[in-house]
Formats: sequence, C-alpha cells, structure tokens
Amino acid sequence: MANGKRVVVIGGGPGGYPAAFLASDLGMQVTLVEAKPNPGGVCLFQGCIPSKALLHVAKLLNEAKEASQWGLSFEPPTIDLAKLRSWKQGVVGKLTGGLGQMSRNRKVNFVRGRARFLDAHALEIAREDGASEKLDFDYAIIATGSVPAKIPGLPTSDRIMDSTATLELNDIPKKLLVVGGGYIGLELGTVYSALGSKVTVVEATGGLLPGADRDLVAHVQKKIEERFERVLLNTSVQSMREEGEGIRVKLLGTDLPESEPLFDKVLVSVGRKPMTEGLGLDRVKVKQTSRGFIEVDAQRRTSEPHIFAIGDVAGDPMLAHKATYEGRIAAEVIAGKSAAFDARAIPAVVFTDPELAWAGLTETEARKQGRDYKLARFPWSASGRATTMGRNDGLTKMVIDPRTEQVLGVGVVGVGAGEMIAEAVLAIELGARATDLMMTIHAHPTLSETVMEAAEVYFGHSPHLYQQPA
Ligand code: FAD
Ligand code: NAD
Repeated sequence: MANGKRVVVIGGGPGGYPAAFLASDLGMQVTLVEAKPNPGGVCLFQGCIPSKALLHVAKLLNEAKEASQWGLSFEPPTIDLAKLRSWKQGVVGKLTGGLGQMSRNRKVNFVRGRARFLDAHALEIAREDGASEKLDFDYAIIATGSVPAKIPGLPTSDRIMDSTATLELNDIPKKLLVVGGGYIGLELGTVYSALGSKVTVVEATGGLLPGADRDLVAHVQKKIEERFERVLLNTSVQSMREEGEGIRVKLLGTDLPESEPLFDKVLVSVGRKPMTEGLGLDRVKVKQTSRGFIEVDAQRRTSEPHIFAIGDVAGDPMLAHKATYEGRIAAEVIAGKSAAFDARAIPAVVFTDPELAWAGLTETEARKQGRDYKLARFPWSASGRATTMGRNDGLTKMVIDPRTEQVLGVGVVGVGAGEMIAEAVLAIELGARATDLMMTIHAHPTLSETVMEAAEVYFGHSPHLYQQPA
C-alpha cells in the first residue's frame, strides 16, 4: 500500500514536482525539498519558460520586420527593456506561483532549503536562514537537475554569461558572442539578434546542432546566417580577456574574421552537467557514470533500491518532458505499481526560427546503426499552408522500415514544427505504418498535412510533388 510511505523528493523541477504531486495523489506522505522559493526548477525559473517568452517576442519583431515584403511597413520598434523584463518575470512568477499553490492544495510538504544525504534514510536540510533540520524518509527521489558546463580557464567577468545571466536581459549588447551552436546558443542568439544585437556564433564541431539531421539543420542555418552577423564552425575559443569596454576573444579556426575580435558580451552555452554537488552521495550507495550522471535502471532506481533518480541528473536527453515522464515512473514504482521507462520516442524541439523537431530514429542514427531504412521527404515548397505564410523554408521527413513500413522516426523543420511533432510521437508509440499516416485525413490547409504527404511520398503518390516513376 502506498499510504503512509514517507517520500522525499529533492529538487522541484519538471522531474521533481510532478513526481511529488503524483506520489501525494497516490496516497504517500511527501516532502519536496527545493532551494528556490517555489517549485519549477531550471525549466521554469531559468530555462524553457523565460526563453520561450523571449522567443515569442523575437518572433513578433522578426515578423513585423519581414512583413515589408508583403507591403506592410512598421516603424522600427521601441524596446522598453525594463517592461520586457518584468513581463518575462511575470510569466515565470505566474507559473511558479501556481505550482506553489498546487503543492499546498495537494498537501505536499514544500520545504525551502538544500538537501544533503546523512545516510541512506536521512537527509539534512539547510534552510535559507542558516538553520538546518533532519528529515527521515522511506524513499527518496533525486531530481536535482543540471548546471551549465564551463570552459576552463575563462576569466570571471559580468560580460561572460551563462544562460541564466543571459536570460536576465540586463542590456542589449551591440556585439554578442555565443560560444556553442547547440540548443541554448541558437535559441538565445535568436532572441538577442531580434532585439538588435549583432550575434556571432562559434561552434567547435563542423555543424550547428550536432545531434540533428543535416538536411533539417540546413534550413535553420540558412535563416541564422541571414540574421546573425557570423556563424563560425570548426572554431573554438583559445582565450578571453577583459579589455576596456569589452571582451577580447582569441579564436582558433580556419575561417576567422580578424585575429582577436572584441565583443560587448559573451554567452557560453557549451552543454550542461548533472548537479550532484553537496548532495552527500558519498554517504549512500548511489553510483555515478564517468560523466557524473546517477546510474538508474528502467524503473529509475539507483543502486540503493529505495532511492530513485530522474531528470537531467539521471542522464540524457536533458529535456523537461523526459524528466516529467521519469517522475511519473518513479512515483508509480514507489506506490507499488508496475511501471518502467519504455518510451519509443522522446521528442526534441529546438525553438529557433524555423523550429526544428524530431522524434524516434534520426536518419543519422539509422545510418550509424547500419540498419535497413527508407526515407520519405516532403519539402514545404510544395505546402499550400506554408506558402500562405510566406514560409516555404521547411521539410518534413520520415525514416521508415521498408520491411514492415513502420514509421521509425520523423523530423520536421519549419514554423510550428514543435507543435507538429506530437503527431509523430504518437504514431511511433502506436507502431503506426506509413499507410496509417497516409490514410489519416489531415485538415486543409495546415502544416500538419506535410506529415500525411511525406507518407504519400513514401508510396510515390503525393499529389503536390511529382515523383518520376522508379
Ligand atoms: P531542474 O529543472 O534542473 O531542477 C532541479 C532543481 O533542483 C532546481 O530547482 C534546483 O534548485 C534544485 N536542487 C538542486 N540541488 C538541490 C539540493 N541539494 N537541494 C534542494 N534542491 C536542489 N527543456 C525542454 O524540454 N524544453 C525547452 O524549451 C528547454 N529550454 C531550456 C532553456 C534553457 C536556457 C535551459 C538552461 C534549459 C532548457 N531546457 C529545456 C532543459 C530543461 O530545463 C531541463 O531538462 C529540465 O529543467 C530538467 O528538469 P529536472 O527536474 O531534472 O531539473
Ligand atoms: P548543447 O549540447 O545543445 O550544445 C552545446 C554546443 O556547444 C554543441 O554544439 C557543442 O559541439 C558545442 N561546444 C562544446 N564545447 C565547445 C567549445 N569549447 N567551443 C565551441 N563550441 C563548443 O548544449 P546547450 O546549448 O548548452 O544546452 C544544454 C542542454 O539543455 C541541451 O542539450 C538540451 O538538453 C537542453 N535545452 C533544451 C532546449 C529545448 O528543448 N528547446 C533548449 C535549451 C536547452
């Protein structure tokens, strides 16, 4: 029986708070320990939510600017930075405040403080005011998330920021350097470029967003090259030093603009690492991988069977919805239900313009695995809806098993791709075949039709794309 089990959840992010809420709904006695004033975690306070609020503003700015091609001209915008900041903080406050209320409604004991294991059944919680208390538990769920990775040897300066400082929006630097062309670098680079910064991105590898298929990334890269000042691939930072009003940066690469460019601000977004510092893991038998993630099994149990780990601290992909899914599993397993991590597809969405989303097997992974696969691609140049929006820069593609015709993976790049990927996830989860997507009636004119048409391309019969008979 779940009733009466004392469960402590450490960390109130999108892994921890849903786990705590469900554990309480299932009849357990739950304490949620969180360093911040309310549940929400990195995602709501310093990640997904503030970045998407600002990306919404960026979209508006870009659309207003680009509408001149349709005969609509607006005056250049006046940006009231203080008001924009307070609107963004209002969004964060509304959502995190709401979660605080939810936790009270559910009788979850929310304790503000930092938790540290004393032994396998007790925590010490250090409160804000310096006081500390001991908390005994039957089960623990570690959901402490992740923190930004650093580049060793960089000086300490207010001009060198991580994503949290960048989201503060203290000013709009004239020249912004973004180190790392991944999710954060491209999303926040998009925000600052729309607000007026000249943005340079340096990426150590040969391409932006290294995890995604190249034909999808090409559309994002094209737009970014139009809007940003420069994109430097195969380039890394050698050193940085504060000089007068800026940061002088020494880069190492093949196609550098000048030897040591000067930037007003720098965003370092070179990945994130699991947060286990100060958690006292040495006092419990919880094992970690060489990269510092907590090792878990399919039920999200650590090597201490009554201690679970979920979210960013338990491994890639470091995405909010993956954390939430794991939170559900851990809470159900503790309640005695039969549950395990068995998702076939975890969607990934990069909220750039255009958006890039994928789910299931990518073409790159299929090739690497040497498995038999076929591709079907529907370019948005053939989409009526995309044309009405002036946004033909998109592509919907499918990776299909030629033997079973099952959809193994879907990739979408284009405006609204992040919303569209949900259909693909459901298709993959349900084991849908290309025929199922082809024979599902999609409303016209919508961008979602491109999913149906990609399936039609697979059979060589898309009405809007002429394919030479094989
Ligand atoms: P977190 O959200 O990191 O929460 C962990 C919490 O634990 C924190 O609140 C921390 O204060 C607390 N904590 C840590 N140690 C202790 C301790 N010892 N005691 C008490 N409390 C502790 N993901 C998406 O899916 N979509 C997005 O659009 C997206 N955008 C992002 C944008 C940015 C700028 C960033 C940085 C990340 C973004 N992410 C996004 C990633 C997403 O934020 C993480 O995957 C997600 O927050 C992980 O959730 P979590 O519950 O594992 O941990
Ligand atoms: P990332 O892993 O997405 O990208 C980091 C990039 O930096 C990579 O392209 C990498 O090759 C490059 N890089 C690494 N070291 C470098 C160096 N020294 N010089 C130049 N480039 C270097 O990491 P991120 O952008 O910091 O984001 C962290 C994580 O947060 C993401 O992986 C993702 O899981 C999550 N996130 C998700 C979303 C979303 O879902 N929309 C948004 C933001 C963040």
